[in-house]
This record gives sequence, structure tokens and C-alpha cells, in this order.
Amino acid sequence: MAFVQLPDSPVLCRNLVGGEWISPAGAATLDVRSPYTGGVIGRVPLTPSAGVAPIVEAAKKAAVGWQAIGLRERTAHLSRFRALLEKNLERLAHLAASEAGKTVAEARAGLLKGLEVCDFSLSLQNLDTGGAMEVSRGVTCEFRREPLGVVAGITPFNFPAMVPLWMIPTALIVGNAFILKPSEKVPLTACALGELMLEAGLPPGVFSLLHGGKEAVQGLLEHPDVQAVGFVGSSAVARRVYAEGASRGKRVLALGGAKNHLIVVPDADPDLTPQAVVDSFTGCAGQRCMAASVLVAVGNVQSLIDEVARRAASMEVGSSMGALIDRASQERLETAIARAESEGARVLVDGRGKKPQGAAWAGGNWLGPTILDNVRPDMEAAQRELFGPLISIVRVPTLSAALELEAASPYGNAASIFTTNGAVAQHVVESARAGMVGVNVGVPVPREPFSFGGINESRFGHGDITGPGGVEFWSQTKKVTRKWTARTDGSWMS
Ligand code: NAD
Repeated sequence: MAFVQLPDSPVLCRNLVGGEWISPAGAATLDVRSPYTGGVIGRVPLTPSAGVAPIVEAAKKAAVGWQAIGLRERTAHLSRFRALLEKNLERLAHLAASEAGKTVAEARAGLLKGLEVCDFSLSLQNLDTGGAMEVSRGVTCEFRREPLGVVAGITPFNFPAMVPLWMIPTALIVGNAFILKPSEKVPLTACALGELMLEAGLPPGVFSLLHGGKEAVQGLLEHPDVQAVGFVGSSAVARRVYAEGASRGKRVLALGGAKNHLIVVPDADPDLTPQAVVDSFTGCAGQRCMAASVLVAVGNVQSLIDEVARRAASMEVGSSMGALIDRASQERLETAIARAESEGARVLVDGRGKKPQGAAWAGGNWLGPTILDNVRPDMEAAQRELFGPLISIVRVPTLSAALELEAASPYGNAASIFTTNGAVAQHVVESARAGMVGVNVGVPVPREPFSFGGINESRFGHGDITGPGGVEFWSQTKKVTRKWTARTDGSWMS
């Protein structure tokens, strides 16, 4: 059974510079391997930091004209891109699934979210994004929204299309030239997005692609003409990118990792809750910043846990859940499971050794859904982001104890409560230390225009990356005060 259509032959990725596909000089290359098979599906250049300047130069030139054509024409360009994205959705979903290990359905969902951000950005032409008021007789104050110039987005492996598309439409529509530095683990989808940008007829240099790893990132951070950097990735790198970018006077919004808590209380809906918990920790093989990774069991919720375990154990890897990004991830998770076991946790469902049938998938990076029970709050499995299809059950006697546990996490991306009691839900909504809270929802990603973003160590910088937060981040306002003195000396006036 084919879970995904892999590229027929390895895709050779190049940078997109001023509308041309260019192999960066002096760049080493890296094989891109599919998490499904371990086979090479592409090759990506690792642009050295010195290779960043030509891309920024081209973008800087393009930014001037792109700002000048105005919002309406930019909207027309982006509408064509959006239409092409939709037309190519299936092809892109298979490409993203091939390189990130997602199921095709998950990759499709990521693209649909990208379309949603396009729609939000395209609607800006119908919104009042500036404003003016007569503040005293003859004096008007106005604020104008203006672009920043050249801006960059640095994105992680786990959403090859969606996370770039959190940034690109909004950054472009407000008039910036945008440079995407995708994860070197998933550069193929980014190249496909670049092709669609060219096909949509965006002026050369308005959208650029810079391939590579930390050296390419360093080049962006050091370049004085990069005005703003949107980053999404692990907290350690987010913190570093934020500090370095800010110290060079750039605007930086850096979203980091997560350790999300699902609080389940005894009155939780027995029909809805188990599947929502399973979907949350196994979706995208647990490789998403919104995945649940701690199930906080309040009081006696044993029957719900039994049902979660039954459903998770029956899942097939490959068909109902994808693969881990690389072998190092698989080994890291297997080691973490063994360590938790040695520290006293009970492996309620063990995903180690689970593989799909068929020789084609033997080289993939597989781990089935795994549930650790009796995890103590001081254990690694309760604290560290492990980024795989693994959930740790921490048992607590009261809702207050559950909220204390949630609040003790240094992260703050998402938290959810499963209950049928509105007052309990409201208490959790008010108390949770997370940027996105779910009530009977395991993956509480807000729809646009409600913006996406966490708090604490899940976000360095200010604001949200999508929705109105994105508009604020990728633009600046100019305040204008006008005073007109009426002239009465011209005969043509009367
Ligand atoms: P990562 O931090 O390893 O890489 C992210 C980006 O940073 C990549 O483009 C990579 O090339 C670059 N990079 C890596 N190391 C670097 C370094 N030392 N210096 C400069 N740049 C560097 O993250 P990842 O493994 O690709 O993605 C998974 C992580 O992303 C998880 O922690 C996950 O929670 C997080 N994530 C967060 C969100 C969110 O919205 N908060 C969304 C998706 C993923």
C-alpha cells in the first residue's frame, strides 16, 4: 500500500534570487531523505553566510517597486498565487508528506491553513488598516501603514507549507520583499512554493528562497538590510535568534517549542474525549507544537484512560499515522521511553518496534503511539519537549494541582480542558499559562483572524504570527499631522 507518492527522482533545490534559480557558490549539499523510506528524494545546498548578500540585494531592489504598486495590485498578484496554491494542493500535499513524514491528509490540512492565511491577507484591501481624524479645527492626524522593506522567515521541518504560509501572504501584502529560509530537512515544498510565486507573476525578488542551515540564518541576522525576522522552531534556537536579531536592531518574533497539557476531569464527555486526546498526541506523529504531550488526569478518570489506550494501541503506523523526521529523532524518543521506564513510569502502550508492512517502508523512521503512565512531574517525560507520538500521564488529585502543574512549565503554547462543566472550563481558560487554550478541543489552533501564537518560552518577542498580529509584525505605522490654512486670495475660489 502506498501511503504517499514520493518524487520520481531526487529534486535538486536551488536558491531563488531575483527571480532566477541559482546554486549558491561554495555551498556544500545535503541529501534530503524521506522519513517514510529513508531514501534520498532531494538535495539541498547549505548556503554559507556570505551567500546571503546577493539575495538580500535583489530583494531590496524589488521591495521599492513592490511597495510603490500599492495594495490593490499586490492583492491581484497574491490572488493569483492563492489560486495556484489551491490548484496544486494535491501535488503539494504529497510533496510535503514525502519530506516531512506526515500523512497526506495532514499535509493537505496544513495547506488549507495556508489558504486561510492567504484569504485573511487578501481581505486587508477591504479593511481600514490606516485611519485619520480631525483633531482640532484644520488639523488632521493620520496613521499610515507602511512596509518594513526586506524581511525574512526561518521555518521548521514539521510544517513545510503551513508555517511558511503563516508568514508569506501577510508580509507580502503589506508591501515587503520576503526571503524564506526553510528547514534544510524539508526544502522541496519551499521550492514548489517558489515556482508558484514565479508562475503567479510576482516581480523578481519580491519572494526569494535561501536554502541552508545555521550559517544561512547567521547571514540573515548579520545583514543590515534585513529589517525583520519571523522564526519558528525549537525554543533554544528561537531564543538565540531573538537575542541576536534584537541586538542588531531587527524586529524579531521567534516562536519556540512546547509541552502542552491536556487536563481531563471526571465529568469529561466519555464519547468525545478519548479520540480528541489520541488525535492530539498522534497527529503529525506528535511532531507539532500544538500536540498534547502531558495528560493531566484529575481524580478517577481511569475509564477514559483505558479508552485512550485502546484506541492508540489499535493505530497502524503508515496509514493512520506518519513517520518521524529522521533516525536521530526515533532514537531520541526510544531512549526517552527507556529512561522514563527506568525512572518508574509504566509503558501503557508501547510504540517501539511498530512498522508498516512491506519492504518499501523498512528504512523509514517509525514509532507507534506510546503512552507512559504514572509519570511524576519531576521526570523528563513530564517536562521536556520530546516531539513524537508520546503522551505522559501525570495523575493529580485536584483541578488546582493540575493547573499548578501546567503553570510550572516554562513553555506556554497550548493547554486544553476536557469537561462538561462550564464553570470548570472557564476557570481553566482564565488560569492556564498558555497562549492558546482549548475547551474539549485537543489541538486548539484558532482560525483566522484570531491569530496564532504562544507565550513564555514558546514565544520570544511580542505579538502573534498570523492574523492582525501578523499585520502588526510585518509593518510599521507612520503618524502624519496635517494643518491646512485656507487661502482666500484667489478669485477662482469664490
Ligand atoms: P529547529 O529549531 O531545529 O530549526 C528551525 C529552523 O532554525 C530551521 O530553519 C533550521 O535550519 C534553523 N536552525 C537550526 N539550528 C539553528 C542554529 N543553531 N542557529 C540558527 N538557525 C538554526 O526546529 P525543528 O526541529 O526544525 O522544528 C521543530 C521545533 O519547532 C519544535 O521545537 C516545535 O515545537 C517547534 N515549532 C514551534 C511552532 C510554534 O508555533 N511555536 C510551530 C512549529 C514548530
